Amino acid sequence: VSNDKQLKELAKKYVIDSGKHFKLKKHDTADTNGLGAEFKSEAQDLLRRSTQMMAEYQDKLYAQDRWALLLIFQAMDAAGKDGTIKHVMSGVNPQGCQVYSFKAPSLKEQDHDFMWRTNLCLPERGNIGIFNRSYYEEVLVVRVHPEFLNNEHVPDDLVTKNIWQERFEDINNAERYLSRNGTVIRKFFLHVSKEEQKKRFLRRLEEPEHNWKFSATDVKERQFWDEYQEAYEDMIANTATEHAPWIVVPADNKWFARLVVSSVIVHTLKGLNLSYPAVDETKKKELAAAEVELKREGRKNPAASKRKK
Ligand code: ATP
Ligand code: MG
Repeated sequence: VSNDKQLKELAKKYVIDSGKHFKLKKHDTADTNGLGAEFKSEAQDLLRRSTQMMAEYQDKLYAQDRWALLLIFQAMDAAGKDGTIKHVMSGVNPQGCQVYSFKAPSLKEQDHDFMWRTNLCLPERGNIGIFNRSYYEEVLVVRVHPEFLNNEHVPDDLVTKNIWQERFEDINNAERYLSRNGTVIRKFFLHVSKEEQKKRFLRRLEEPEHNWKFSATDVKERQFWDEYQEAYEDMIANTATEHAPWIVVPADNKWFARLVVSSVIVHTLKGLNLSYPAVDETKKKELAAAEVELKREGRKNPAASKRKK
């Protein structure tokens, strides 16, 4: 299989752009699209290649200053969000890329509507914005622990049994609005198994340099595994759309998850048919005049050009 063909296939295979009949159980966390562990080193080359392609597209995205790309990452603890973001974005110019992490909301944030804090962090045109967690926590952790709603100060009358459905609807509307304004949205769910999470937690406990990553609350949240899986399933079923699809990324194998995420981003950027801004006649004259001016400078001051040699 050629590299580009492989990347193209991975870019499409895990995209969910309609929530109809979505069942999370049908998605294998250990899937590697038939690529064995022996493919790992080749995968590294492929990842390098797609990182390079991403850098090229991002340069155009930035120069063109029309589209923005919003990448959302959601997952259970230890599914590999941080590592994936680090690896996948390793080649892009920091100037055109921003990462925001959303933790439990502050008091000030709780005094606003639930999309307020993320709206402040949306990427500007020409930029790639990454959300490490997002407003989707509002239909995940808050759904699993509905008592968190009390902190959000929403008037009681507005908190009904329809609240999750209403949030899905509001999220869909907001994402459609953004996409109509030129923000391209891709949402990644790193889908890891309960077994694999346990392995990774244990590694964090056993290896001193990974201790800092471990938090006791992570193990507590693990007890709500099934509730979270249901919340994720319902979230994807209700918010997977053509303009803002979910990508259900098999995440038990980190190398594979990174490859999938990377190829989706590359192909999304490719699909925008980006190009450097065209130079019009006035600008061309300006450039030509500047060139003449710069060259004349050297002739006027021969000593300076001699020194250079
Ligand atoms: P991560 O867990 O993403 O790797 P971290 O360990 O550095 O990052 P934490 O302090 O664990 O950060 O913060 C993430 C926690 O914040 C998660 O448990 C998440 O569910 C919670 N959180 C995020 N958004 C909300 C929200 N809107 N309401 C309640 N809790 C939230
Ligand atoms: Mg955490």
